[in-house]
Amino acid sequence: MTLPKTTAELRALDAAHHLHPFSDTKALNAEGSRVIVKADGVWLTDSDGNRYLDGMSGLWCVNVGYGREEIADAVSKQLRELPYYNTFFKTTHTPAIELAAKLAELTPPQFNRVFFTGSGSESNDTVIRLVRRYWDIKEKPEKKVIISRRNAYHGSTVGAANLGGMAPMHAQNVAIPGVVHIAQPYWWGEARQGETPDEFGLRTAQALEATIDALGEDRIAAFIAEPIQGAGGVIVPPATYWPEIARICRERDILFVSDEVICGFGRTGKWFGCETFGTHPDLLVMAKGITSGYMPLGGVMVADRVVDVLLEGGDFNHGYTYSGHPAACAAALANLAIMQREKLVERVADDIGPYLKARWSTLAEHPLVGEAPMLGMVGALELTPDKAGRRKFPEVGKVGTLARDFSFKNGLVMRAVRDRLIIAPPLVLSHGEADELVARARKTLDDSWTELKRWGWVG
Ligand SMILES: *Cc1c(COP(=O)(O)O)cnc(C)c1O
Repeated sequence: MTLPKTTAELRALDAAHHLHPFSDTKALNAEGSRVIVKADGVWLTDSDGNRYLDGMSGLWCVNVGYGREEIADAVSKQLRELPYYNTFFKTTHTPAIELAAKLAELTPPQFNRVFFTGSGSESNDTVIRLVRRYWDIKEKPEKKVIISRRNAYHGSTVGAANLGGMAPMHAQNVAIPGVVHIAQPYWWGEARQGETPDEFGLRTAQALEATIDALGEDRIAAFIAEPIQGAGGVIVPPATYWPEIARICRERDILFVSDEVICGFGRTGKWFGCETFGTHPDLLVMAKGITSGYMPLGGVMVADRVVDVLLEGGDFNHGYTYSGHPAACAAALANLAIMQREKLVERVADDIGPYLKARWSTLAEHPLVGEAPMLGMVGALELTPDKAGRRKFPEVGKVGTLARDFSFKNGLVMRAVRDRLIIAPPLVLSHGEADELVARARKTLDDSWTELKRWGWVG
């Protein structure tokens, strides 16, 4: 078979045979998808030769940037040596062993054991299995309920989608029992008039305590949360939020799960988001940045106090064919070696993180921008017709999509969540590229402003 070469031919085949995730495939087919053909550093190239600065690290994952020969070589070597073997039935293999030990070294001290999966969604399904198993072994089988937050994202398998609090997903999903959602710490979107971020952060955190009391502590298995909500729109909680959550989790007999699929592996300027916010999780969920997206891999770190119980419970009847896939583990080991050698986590904390934040923050002065939060290498621009009143546009999502499309035209990949633009660039972004990113974002805001004036939606 000779492969089609032109963009039009590729688009036609894509439209004929490919159902896209989180897409209106019919509308997409009418428009034609963008075909990405190669990438290097922080730059993507499409099939027409256009170049884009990838402000989203793919889907929040390419932390070390594209084009790392070292990872490609490690995967290739592993595929030649042992492309696959499982870790069921009393067997293991070197890449899984080495990566497990490496993760025990990099994660906070309570973590010494990992359960490998193929993705973030599988990891969160594993979380459901693990926490319920834990309470069963402790002879508290009535502790089944997992508390999560509205507008959380924990993945797209049935279990993970239920943990998540995405209304459009729940609208298409058959709910599983035992998941309860509480408020999210989204000050801009949900605080009362006159409520300071600190007051709001405290009130939102205390919803956890109130919910535990209302349902009964003897029914609650765990609380799960992302340190910073990613897909929900890069919601950086007020400073009062995490200390209060940490207090509640300490005082109550429940497990705390930190979903670090985005915040893990340097994104917030420490190895893990729980270290940035001072929480003490019992389970830590990983995927994305663990391999910088070069191979699919996920995992759940399990704290010693949970492992001690699980080990008394006999068989744990759970696992995936690709749990600890050798080539994926090899990719992770090469990726983590790069991160350590190039001190990328330190770079986010001391160099490119503060550099980008200083420039990004200036976008808050734009008339279209309500707030421009950034922490580490993840940030947002809340678009609003009225900063002071924190007003929303008449139709939610339309302005976000408009701005997102302008951003692509300006050669910058940003993502839109409702009317909020978000970025999470690779941790290797240079100072010059950070300047370029902010310049293109500013142009995008100007273009959007001009168009919205034409609509009569601003000014
Ligand atoms: C992406 C994501 C997931 C799901 O990971 P997949 O690999 O897509 O299954 C889970 N949790 C968070 C916080 C994520 O951002």
